[in-house]
Amino acid sequence: MGKMVKLQGIAASEGVAIGSCRIVSENKIIFKNKKISNSEVKDELIRFEKSIRFLVEEIDSLMEKYSFSKENKDILLSHKMILEDPEFHKNITNLIQKELLSLEQALTTHFTQLKKIFQNMKSDYLAERISDYEDVSNRFLKHITNDSADVFEHVQKGDIIVMTDISPSLLLNAVEHFAAGICTETGSRNAHSAIIARSLNLPMIVGVHSLLNNLKDNDKVILNGESGEVIISPTEEILRKFKKIRYNYLRRQRNLVKILDLESRTKDGKKVALMSNIELPEEIPLVHKNHSEGVGLFRTEFLFIDRNQLPNEEEQLAVYKQIAEDCSPHPAIIRTIDIGGDKLSSILNISHESNPNLGMRGIRISFLFPEIFKTQIRAILRANISGNLKIMFPMVSCVGEIIRAKKIISECVDELIKEKLDFNDNIKIGAMIEIPSAVVMSAELAEECDFLSIGTNDLIQYTLAADRDNENISEFYQSAHPAVLRLIKQTVENAHKKGKKVAVCGEMAADENFVKLLLGLGVDELSMSPTGLLRIKKIVINSHLKKLEKLAEKALKMKTSAEVLNLLKR
Ligand code: PEP
Ligand code: MG
Repeated sequence: MGKMVKLQGIAASEGVAIGSCRIVSENKIIFKNKKISNSEVKDELIRFEKSIRFLVEEIDSLMEKYSFSKENKDILLSHKMILEDPEFHKNITNLIQKELLSLEQALTTHFTQLKKIFQNMKSDYLAERISDYEDVSNRFLKHITNDSADVFEHVQKGDIIVMTDISPSLLLNAVEHFAAGICTETGSRNAHSAIIARSLNLPMIVGVHSLLNNLKDNDKVILNGESGEVIISPTEEILRKFKKIRYNYLRRQRNLVKILDLESRTKDGKKVALMSNIELPEEIPLVHKNHSEGVGLFRTEFLFIDRNQLPNEEEQLAVYKQIAEDCSPHPAIIRTIDIGGDKLSSILNISHESNPNLGMRGIRISFLFPEIFKTQIRAILRANISGNLKIMFPMVSCVGEIIRAKKIISECVDELIKEKLDFNDNIKIGAMIEIPSAVVMSAELAEECDFLSIGTNDLIQYTLAADRDNENISEFYQSAHPAVLRLIKQTVENAHKKGKKVAVCGEMAADENFVKLLLGLGVDELSMSPTGLLRIKKIVINSHLKKLEKLAEKALKMKTSAEVLNLLKR
């Protein structure tokens, strides 16, 4: 056994995991043999023609189905032109027939050669064309290697997966392989893969510098999801110690079950609805298991990510209907898609943005693709038969966006009437408060909406200009920043004046350090990953609201995050 090494990362999802290390590389495109034999040439050419047909048809069906903006249409058309270019066909055929290269190798060779030619031409226009070629090349390789690209094929039950970074969809894949934990070299606590890991109770540590230099496959690894510590090749003594910690952690979890049936109310009687954030309908059993009072945030974009085709109205209808039925009589808040930022969908073909968090995401995407937006709204209205669904819009930056969204809802209602389909438009509408401008306009937003929900993950990022996914600046991403607390207070005051409730559905709602503060600031409801719900309920039922209000009053006067954190420790 090697020498024990301890590394420090960021604790992204709690729990202790002990297992064998499995190093996995995400973008591993598994190439068929680079060279082929003469007898394989025919099959390789057929594979090439079939793939071209598939990719061209995919583009055609996308353009038929959705009304893309002119810019997006142009991109898709240029991709189609690249695929149908006779020179491209001639070159690939030659590389396969004459050089006896596999299709994967022929494509890589072709696109690498093109890239070199374009790079030497030093023109901005051609530089842009390179990214189109790269897109097509990636799409092509992804399509032809799809069957063989299970990056987790060597992962065994109980292994600890080690990667440079992990996307939300791969994380779900890791769960299907029964991994015991995840550890990555980059990433942050507020990225979506970390949020999902927490919701699935999967220990995860991110942002561990030099991780991959310090371990190899099969090394024994301990992840301490509480402290962010990674221990490689532990001594027998350390191993014993952590097995005990793991045992105690699981016991604590089991103890929380005792408060399952208690109502979530402070000692002095304030009812605090505790709801669940879910990313996938499969998480509904967790919502019930933890006696959550409905779904406070369904991140519907996960229905759209990593697929070859967008979910149609019927598919969405089935999902929303199931959630409505499963949550009844409690409400379920369906948030319209929030693709963008770290949740880019390849299907939408959004052109590369150098600053995606300030770019095309949230409700802006819905306005850019009105057909996609309408499909989603229609599905929600049709699923709302028992009247417990609510619609919430992400990344709202001004009142006009809510007015525009409401107009689109009316258009959907008119269409559904004309088509004689069953639906229920008696539905509450909410805005997420995630951008400082939305806080400033929260009185007006509360007037236009039925409820507000503060997305602290983004609100912190946009208030402090600190990317939620960038571990290099994580020290600037401060949940306890007095500016953030004052914005929450301002939102609550404005909404309450208009008689509307305010929820918090960002990660702060599940953070034991901050829950008391949020309640003291007047927040009415908390929504979090269902696995954290009982921990938070325990805090609520042991608190006095009056005391929490005093705590919040003090915090609002503080000058720095450090002072606020000190106050919370007392
Ligand atoms: C938030 O920003 O706090 C939020 C709940 O939305 P998301 O994490 O999906 O961006
Ligand atoms: Mg958000």
